Amino acid sequence: MSNLDVLVLPGDGIGPEVTTEAISVLKRACEKGGIALSLEEADFGGASIDAHGAPITQATLDRARLADGVLLGACGGPKWDDLPTDKRPEKGLLALREHMEVFANLRPAKLFAPLAESSPLKAERAAGFDFIVVRELVGGIYFGKPRFIEGEGAARKGVNTLVYDESEILRIGRVAFETARKRRKKLLSVDKANVLEVMGLWREVMTELGKEYSDVELDHMYVDNAAMQLILRPTDFDVLVTGNMFGDILSDLAAAATGSIGLLPSAALGEKCALYEPVHGSAPDIAGQAKANPLAAIMSIAMLLEHTAKRSDLSGAIYGAVEDVLADGLRTGDLAKQGDKVLSTGEMGAAVLAKVEARLG
Ligand code: NAD
Repeated sequence: MSNLDVLVLPGDGIGPEVTTEAISVLKRACEKGGIALSLEEADFGGASIDAHGAPITQATLDRARLADGVLLGACGGPKWDDLPTDKRPEKGLLALREHMEVFANLRPAKLFAPLAESSPLKAERAAGFDFIVVRELVGGIYFGKPRFIEGEGAARKGVNTLVYDESEILRIGRVAFETARKRRKKLLSVDKANVLEVMGLWREVMTELGKEYSDVELDHMYVDNAAMQLILRPTDFDVLVTGNMFGDILSDLAAAATGSIGLLPSAALGEKCALYEPVHGSAPDIAGQAKANPLAAIMSIAMLLEHTAKRSDLSGAIYGAVEDVLADGLRTGDLAKQGDKVLSTGEMGAAVLAKVEARLG
């Protein structure tokens, strides 16, 4: 029997709704897999602002660092939109990522066969695509210094700094190579080495690191070309690794190609901590109506079992269960075509749970 300590931060809007379904799946998978699960819940985002006056408390930040894994729902909503930027729910998310030092963001993008028509890409081009974007999350231009706006009139200027040192490139590179090693062993490093010195360094370090992973085929591509190729031939990609800003843009592009934001899980991994969350936000337009698709949150649990618990048997059962329900034609509102029966959040969660049980025996 192994132990798994998970901190749950349901957050706001549909966050608590999808988290409930994900936790049911986690509990059952752990029961079946002989894992002693301990769960603790804390306020986060708007809920934490209402209860404690801040989007995340120091106690929750410290607790998150001690947990084996953190599951986050989503945060934010109109109730807190008028607060100053540094007091808003989203600030809690940045503080959490920073405090946990989670530098590697893994965002799988997969087009499930029964949903081929949901993709905005033509089915013959997109059918079967399945890749992961590994994005550097705590460095690059979003954090580089100096950063400022200064001066007057026409001379007023804004400055940000794109900087990576070798150690930052190496640690994200290692996560990407290891990820590729467990998949189809193809890694594409995305940069802008033709224009930016820092990206020249990025390419040099990735190439050197590649010598340690001779079983993984490493290629390089400029980011503008990568954006184009992802749309033209998405099935050719396996794992992409890139810096913070390029990763931000490419992972949203990948998200759009899958058909619904309700299908995208993510993991943010550090040396010691791991944070799992669906990519979507708190969806205030459908919150409280049992309309949310819980599959992204449920697949975030699969990522937790894969990366933190190292139980690919359990994560595989969950991914498989999601494929099963989609193959059975079960759809929440975001996936339904005209005439389809629309399942509630709870009904979809229960359907996945039944399939997980069937797969784990
Ligand atoms: P959103 O992802 O919440 O919603 C975008 C659209 O997708 C909406 O129409 C929504 O109904 C739909 N949608 C999202 N998730 C869904 C699901 N699981 N099932 C079915 N439909 C789903 O993005 P937004 O509207 O730009 O932001 C709403 C709030 O969420 C804002 O306060 C924003 O700051 C916050 N936000 C939080 C996170 C996070 O917590 N990680 C991420 C993005 C946005």
